[in-house]
Amino acid sequence: MAKKPGKMMARRIFVIMLILIVALSGVSGASLVNIMILKGEEYQTKASEQQLYDSLVTAPRGDIFDRNMQVLATSSTAWTVYITPNGIKKIKDNAKRETVRVTIAKGLSEILDVDYDTVYKNTDKNSYYVIVKKKIEKSTADEIRKFISDNKDLEITKYIGLDETTKRYYPNDTLASVVLGFVGSDEQGLSGLESYYDNELTGIAGRVVAAKNALGTDMPFTYEKVEEAIKGNSLVLTLDSYIQYTCEKYLETAIEQNKVAERGAAVVMNVKTGAILAMAVKGDFNPNDPFTLSKVDQDKVDAEANEEAKSKLKNELLNRQWRNKAISDSYEPGSVFKVVTASIAIEENLINKNNSFFCNGHTSVAGQRYGCWKHGGHGTQNLQQAISNSCNPAFITIGQLAGISTFSKYFKAFGFSEKTGIDLPGESRSTYHKEENMGVVELASSSFGQTFNVTPIQMMSAVSAAVNGGYLVQPHLVAKTVNDAGKVVKTTTTTYKRQVISETTSATMRELMEFVSKNGAKNSLVPGYRIGTKTGTSQKVSKIQATGDTYLYIGSCITVAPIDNPEIAVLVMLDEPKGSNYYGGVISAPVNSKIMGDVLPYLGYEPSYTEEEIKKLAVDVPDVTNFTVTDAKAKITNSKLDYKIIGSGEKIVRQLPEAGSKVATGGVVILYTDETAGSKVTVPNFTGYTATEVNTLAASLGLNVEFSGNTAISGLKAYNQSIAANTSVEVGTIVTVYFRDESAVD
Ligand SMILES: [Zn+2]
Repeated sequence: MAKKPGKMMARRIFVIMLILIVALSGVSGASLVNIMILKGEEYQTKASEQQLYDSLVTAPRGDIFDRNMQVLATSSTAWTVYITPNGIKKIKDNAKRETVRVTIAKGLSEILDVDYDTVYKNTDKNSYYVIVKKKIEKSTADEIRKFISDNKDLEITKYIGLDETTKRYYPNDTLASVVLGFVGSDEQGLSGLESYYDNELTGIAGRVVAAKNALGTDMPFTYEKVEEAIKGNSLVLTLDSYIQYTCEKYLETAIEQNKVAERGAAVVMNVKTGAILAMAVKGDFNPNDPFTLSKVDQDKVDAEANEEAKSKLKNELLNRQWRNKAISDSYEPGSVFKVVTASIAIEENLINKNNSFFCNGHTSVAGQRYGCWKHGGHGTQNLQQAISNSCNPAFITIGQLAGISTFSKYFKAFGFSEKTGIDLPGESRSTYHKEENMGVVELASSSFGQTFNVTPIQMMSAVSAAVNGGYLVQPHLVAKTVNDAGKVVKTTTTTYKRQVISETTSATMRELMEFVSKNGAKNSLVPGYRIGTKTGTSQKVSKIQATGDTYLYIGSCITVAPIDNPEIAVLVMLDEPKGSNYYGGVISAPVNSKIMGDVLPYLGYEPSYTEEEIKKLAVDVPDVTNFTVTDAKAKITNSKLDYKIIGSGEKIVRQLPEAGSKVATGGVVILYTDETAGSKVTVPNFTGYTATEVNTLAASLGLNVEFSGNTAISGLKAYNQSIAANTSVEVGTIVTVYFRDESAVD
């Protein structure tokens, strides 16, 4: 922004003077903005002809846009309602003065929903400026104006004023709330981008000076704008509202289905540029109303009997809902970290794809025994099998091959010993074994991602480096800063911190991660696309020690795509799943799959389906109502669906499923040729059935199935369904059946 230094200096001096005047006149606790100054009695006598009013005019904050210029945060005009008690005091007629006081107190308390007694008392205060309510909307301001004109005979216009100000507004409510943050009562940024970029977003206050005839005359204030307020700079983010929405939707469902107690996060990043396309954290809050808790949390507060405990808990829960889990909560990444361990050893030529590793179910380092999750052991495995099996003994071996010094060197190089520097407040530091304190035992546990804590965003950046050719890039959310005139003030360019591994090692890592997606972590697969994956499950050791609760896990998964030239990375982490399963490969990987499945086609990556995938793809049910029976049959058959005619009419009057619904290929469309009510069927329990079995059973009953989960995996078992077993429904009804690979671990 072209801020003229001279003008800025003048304003700074003005503000300093204001502060001095406020300090000297003994006004305390009041906001600088909207303060009436030069109001002392002495001044009034001196300035017999003129009464000065001097006020700062709040500048609107800059807007926040997503990368497609959709508004995420904006400022609208609002008003501050104030009264001038010292004016009321000048009314000589006692009865009239009392009428004015009562009228004002009654009118304002009703319109503004404030306490009558407080307003009434304030009308007698020794002051020229008492705020009744801040940040009221236009409709309320209009009511105040009407109230003033309705009471012309009492000259109320002299005692009530409206100051124009601004109010922050987030049109999408909770969308990206944790990233955007929120503002305080004086429009100052208090968290998220609002806080990090507060200086950019805050405008320069304008100034209004008003002159008036001596008090008590019927002339209202005549304002003169001395300096126009200048709107703050706007931010254009790398974030995409659609991708953000997609992440939040799937994350929320996963939190609910897996009974996640400590929230979850999902991040989508461009691995080549570090541009964050989405950063979702649930449970979050509505930035329009940041001090309101979710119902669940509020119930917890209400359940506290003790007032002190109540307020302590409320503060804790508020801070939790504002907290950006993706950058502020460090965790043990678990097996996702094996991507880093493998990268180190390959880069240092200590291992290659052809090496084999033996696992008999456990291994020991310096007398410390480590078990493999597969107690019977994995036997002999090559490198890709070892990473796909997520075999700890194999990775302990790989870590020991690297040694403490090399491991520590790369740990730093991958960015784990420093903050990523993402443009958000509150990024946490990692905690890890420093090289000088690391022994072979610490090296062993670190090799499979435990006994140290990093943030999700650090893990995301490191995996990005492993697959993007080896470059550690700085994640960022703001693409550019734009001034009020629309001119670009600053553009963010990609910050390459360093090359950590070679292009060749990176290519090997892509191969390994693709192998994992097809074998160990099939739940992450995306029909039509080749991707790479690594999942992780870690125990929350310190909380387990502190609470005695042993069922405390974090399940996470990182996927990258398209695997031959990755651009998009998705990270999903679920903190303390309390459902039947806690493995990242079972609970998080399906979320990665859904997000990728929506995001890749949206970003223009063309799917290419295998024949098997095409067979499993859902088809749209065509509209055949009003068709003749013959035409309808032909159209349904051409859509790779089956039909069943009910009634003996000539035309189709109704169909189930309705046109546009999605059903699995081969599904049955029930065609009614008259108004006969459809026959009923009882929904069976599909849990534990394979897709083929579900299909056969559903077809035999005349039900349609929509498969949810991964159509790219064969041999999956159903674990949930949209309509409960034993429910009676009309023939032709669609039941969504959820599938996942329950055998995935880690
Ligand atoms: Zn093993």
